[in-house]
Amino acid sequence: MKKILLSCLIAVFFSAWAAAQSGSTVIKAGYLVDPETGAISKDQIILIEGGKIIQVSDVLKIPKGANVIDLSDQYILPGMMDCHTHLCWHINDKKNDGYVMSIVREPTAYRAIQGVMNAKDMLHAGFTTVRDVGNNGNYADAALRMAIEDGLVEGPTIVNAGRIISPFGGQRWVIPERKDYTQPEYFFADTRDEIKKAIRENIHFGAKVIKLVVDDQKYIYSAEDIAFAKKEANLAGLKLAAHCATDAGARNAIEANVASIEHGFGMTPATMALAAEKQIPFVSTTFSLPVLESLASDLSHTPLEDYTSGVNTLKMAYEHDVFVAFGSDIIGKVPNMDRGAATLTFLKSFQDAGASNLQILQAFTVNSMKTIGLQNERGLIKSGWAADIIAVPADPIKNIETLKQVVFVMKNGKVIKSK
Ligand SMILES: [Zn+2]
Repeated sequence: MKKILLSCLIAVFFSAWAAAQSGSTVIKAGYLVDPETGAISKDQIILIEGGKIIQVSDVLKIPKGANVIDLSDQYILPGMMDCHTHLCWHINDKKNDGYVMSIVREPTAYRAIQGVMNAKDMLHAGFTTVRDVGNNGNYADAALRMAIEDGLVEGPTIVNAGRIISPFGGQRWVIPERKDYTQPEYFFADTRDEIKKAIRENIHFGAKVIKLVVDDQKYIYSAEDIAFAKKEANLAGLKLAAHCATDAGARNAIEANVASIEHGFGMTPATMALAAEKQIPFVSTTFSLPVLESLASDLSHTPLEDYTSGVNTLKMAYEHDVFVAFGSDIIGKVPNMDRGAATLTFLKSFQDAGASNLQILQAFTVNSMKTIGLQNERGLIKSGWAADIIAVPADPIKNIETLKQVVFVMKNGKVIKSK
């Protein structure tokens, strides 16, 4: 009897030891969804080692000692992506600061702490990668990215912009006595030399993408200015994202072949057609009604008027076969929702714009991956790619709202959330 007990104990010990040694994780994926095609493969085995996907197969033999995660009754997808976040901006309505005052009353350290909270909430909602496009004080986004990469705090992979580069004034009105108050939030750059200097300084301080605000003043960047900035960013391996609020700004950005048009609010059908022809991604930031209602005091229209106009722009993009990626652009607090839940309210904006469930899933996954430029790195469940994997309880191609019920999140092979 004693001998049997001893051999049992030895067996338990060795199987635990083997699991620790193998370092392999296996996910039993009941329904593996490919967002590129909408195809669903049943009963797949995903082998993960060293944070990467090693193999995906239905005949894979599970390695001895592997950590097995049973998701055989779940729908498995690559982690979602959001191309346009401002994680270190979380307007605190209780302080009655509003849109403008938060950038002068909240120091960068506080902004970084806001970012820690929002990054965690995004990851737990299923967003394993975000592109953060500025408005983070004095490089709080770079600090947040580094802290996540170093494992100090939980959050998505971040591709961050550093300070937003813009013509004098940024996105605000300034007065002669306080002409610098919107810096460092914005990096004023009017001449080519200033643009080059701003890009280089951003890269030095940790930017991984360059963001230009093209047209929020009466003077806007020309197509030549934007092409100059793009060339400078590209030389260092960074892409250029262009905030465009007017049709003229979007035209200039498209002419300069930017990596993405952000917002595109004022785009006419002809400009949409040009974006489609040149295959320039359109990052839709079509605010949902709950998000617009939370910003109501800063809007010049009613939330419903703004919602309808945003939805119509997105509809126009789909009608013109524009390549659409997803951006949330949330900067505030939606009552009773964290940043992740608020971000997922945008599914409704896409539905109301007439996008199919597959189109919506693509905007929230592969199209954003391609817009950020993460091909062969992360964003698909394929061998050699990062193990960024989520699970939902139902088929998102039949019911896209199921993306609000992410039950499992893995980032770089590490389980962040499980059933
Ligand atoms: Zn934005």
